[in-house]
Order: sequence, then C-alpha cells, then structure tokens
Amino acid sequence: MYFQKDIETISKNALHLLQSERLKKTLEAAATTPYYGKLFQEKKIDISKIKTVEHLKDLPFTTKNDLRLSYPDGMVAVPRSEIVRIHASSGTTGKSTVIFYTMKDIDNWATLVARAMYSTGARREDVFQNMMGYGLFTGGLGLHYGAEKLGCMVIPSSTGNSLKQLQLMQDFQTTLIHITPSYALHLVEVIKENGINPHDLSVKKAYFGAEPYSESTRKKLEEQWGLDAYNCYGLSEMNGPGVAMECINKAGMHIAEDYYIAEIINPETGEPLPDGEEGELVLTHINREAMPIIRYRTRDLTRIIPEPCSCGRTHRRIERIKGRTDDMLIVGGVNVFPSQIESVLMTIPEVGNNYRIVLDREEGLDRMHIQVELYSKLFQGDMKALKKLNKEIVEKLRALITINPRIEFMEPGSLPPSEGKAKRVIDNREI
Ligand code: ADP
Ligand code: ZN
Repeated sequence: MYFQKDIETISKNALHLLQSERLKKTLEAAATTPYYGKLFQEKKIDISKIKTVEHLKDLPFTTKNDLRLSYPDGMVAVPRSEIVRIHASSGTTGKSTVIFYTMKDIDNWATLVARAMYSTGARREDVFQNMMGYGLFTGGLGLHYGAEKLGCMVIPSSTGNSLKQLQLMQDFQTTLIHITPSYALHLVEVIKENGINPHDLSVKKAYFGAEPYSESTRKKLEEQWGLDAYNCYGLSEMNGPGVAMECINKAGMHIAEDYYIAEIINPETGEPLPDGEEGELVLTHINREAMPIIRYRTRDLTRIIPEPCSCGRTHRRIERIKGRTDDMLIVGGVNVFPSQIESVLMTIPEVGNNYRIVLDREEGLDRMHIQVELYSKLFQGDMKALKKLNKEIVEKLRALITINPRIEFMEPGSLPPSEGKAKRVIDNREI
C-alpha cells in the first residue's frame, strides 16, 4: 500500500534520471542567487558540465556557516513576492539559519510528509497530536501540513503543558503523536503520576525525532507507552522533518530520494564513502524553488543501508543518527557520543526516564559524572542493592566507552524535564 506508488517504487535507473534532471534545474536556479552565483564564478564551476548525479562530487559543500554568511537571503532564488513562509533552525549549535519557502515548496513538503506518514500505516482516520514546537522551528508546522494533507484530524498542541496534553489525548482519542523522545520520556511519567495507565490511552503510534536517541530508548518508550514508534529525521536547511522516515518495518529511515540526493562523506577529508560505511550525511535538495542548497553538510553521522527494504519502497534507507560530528565529547582523549551512554542507561530496568552527563576537569584530568534518575521504589531501596546497581552501570559503560564515569542516583523528577530538544550534556571544563 503506497501513497505515490510510482515514485515510491521507482527503479534505480528511473530514479537516477529523475535526480539528474532535477539536479540540473537546481543548479540553474542556484546560479541566479548571490551566494552560489559568486561561488560558481570564483571557483570557475561550469554548471552545464554537471549532467548526472555522479558529477555532484565536483561541486563544493555548503556549510551552516555559509548559510549564516549569506544571511538573510543570499541563497534565495525567487523574487520576495513568491515567498510565503520562512522558518529557522533551532540554533542548537549557534546562531540560527533562515529558510524560505514558496507556495509550491510548502505543498511539496506536505506531500512528502503525508507520504512518509502513510508508509507507517497512518491514515485519514487518525487523530494526530503534534507535540513539537510550532513557530520558527520546523518540527511543528512541517508534520502539521503533512498530516492535514493525509486527512488526519490534527491537534496542534505544541510542546509542554503536560496535563493539557493528557487531557487532549483522552478527550479526542488521539491515535498518533509526534514528540521528541526526551519529552516522551517525561510525559509518560506525568501520565502515570496521574493514575493513568498509558496502555489504556488510544495512542498507537508515535513519531520520534528532532534529536538523537538510541534503539534502547525507542524500546523503552514503546513499552511504557504501549505503541509503535517510528524514527523521523529532518533539518530545517532541507525543509524540516520528513527528509527520511521509517516505514512500517522500523528498520532504518527511507530517504525521500525524489527530493534529496544523499551522500555519505568522511567528515575529516570530505571524501565520498561507499554505501554501508558510516560518515557524515550530505544532502542536496533537488525539488525546491525558493532556496536551492547544494551538498549541505548536515554534521549528522549515519550510514546508508544498501539492502532493499521488504516494504517494496526502493528509496534507500539511512540508519539511526548516531549523533552530530559536533556532539562528540572528547573525555580524557576518548571520543564518546552521548547516544552511546544513553544506549547503555536505557537497557537497565531500574533506570528512570531522565539523565544528565556532567563533565568537569579536576587537577587537569577530565571527569565524567552521570546523574541518573531511578524509579522511586528503588530510590528508597537498600544501600547494598544501590551499590550493586551503581557498579553494574559503571562496568557496562566502561566496556562500551572505556571511561570510568561516576554515577549519581537521583530521585525521579529531580532533573530538569525536557519539552523540546533535550540538553543532556553540561560541560564545565575550561577549554
Ligand atoms: P539545529 O541544527 O539548530 O538543531 P534543526 O531544528 O533544523 O536545527 O534540527 C535539525 C537537527 O536535529 C538534525 O541535523 C539532527 O542533528 C537532529 N535530528 C532531527 N531528527 C533527528 C532524528 N530522528 N534522530 C537524530 N537526530 C535528529
Ligand atoms: Zn521500507
């Protein structure tokens, strides 16, 4: 069952042709913008020589900094009167960047989101509660328009206000939610505290996205909520959510390859890597009017899954995002991604739904200290059991990341809850 069968099951050759054609058009549009116009001239790039997807590697990358430098509209390819909306990135890593959309861009984005939602089994009968931030952030409005296009009843509840969220879920029999995994961890606690078993709610599916999380967090959330969770990836520079999304198989996210050309590169050298190897995801938007962006370095680490998916969709998949190149912590010379720590914590049944990583430097040495909320029953448990648990966590972490963190157990609800993108790392080290 497909939303756009022809395009979702397109053959490799036909996709190659479509991508190459759209790439050519995108380059022509890009050449009219102040930013790319100048860049192509300076680097003596003759875009008429770029004929197929393979030639893409001859073009320079675009970085977040390039977007900042061309702020506000150095990459815009249409007259101002054609623009109907702007969005901005959440600014996780500095000043945010602004993205422009024409009416057609908004409509295309809605279609691609509707298609991705359909591939998870969502249908017009669904009641969709969208708990992502509405506003400049793309998470809210992006899925909102897609869900409406699919015909769902949309509840634009945005983030926060947990009791109100619960009431909406109950009163309108919400079946489908969109939420950051960190907020989902918090909200499920609030639901339980109110004496409600989350399994008794009508919510059956969730889209988790906007931040990295581990497979163990997905499993934990699926069990606690009693639902199926699908990974949903996107970034404002490439429209927003919907760039890649899991299908009903929940085994990696299909990239919408009629909209994006995906490459994986070695983040240090910029060299393209073959399918299957892990590296930085680079995306070119090939179906957008207002703002063509070429070879955008997402800084997100993943790999392309080369094997076909049994759902029949031919668009290639990417694996769960491991983290961002700039998320990586270097602790005493060892490289660690917060998602690795999370993957260990979330497999331990005693560990509650919130944690925080604190880094300090003591006498010139890096120290990692992890604050972990425990479930209340255990928190009052006997000292011996707590000591044993502490040791177990340290050993599991040491086996995976070769560092020896100090674990501090906290009462449930004592760490600041997350409503949007979680801030899990506090780095007090002076650089
Ligand atoms: P910012 O770069 O300021 O955070 P965005 O709001 O555009 O701006 O966020 C996009 C980023 O969010 C992605 O580049 C990625 O790092 C992260 N992200 C989005 N969806 C996911 C996901 N499903 N898994 C992991 N990370 C994600
Ligand atoms: Zn699939």
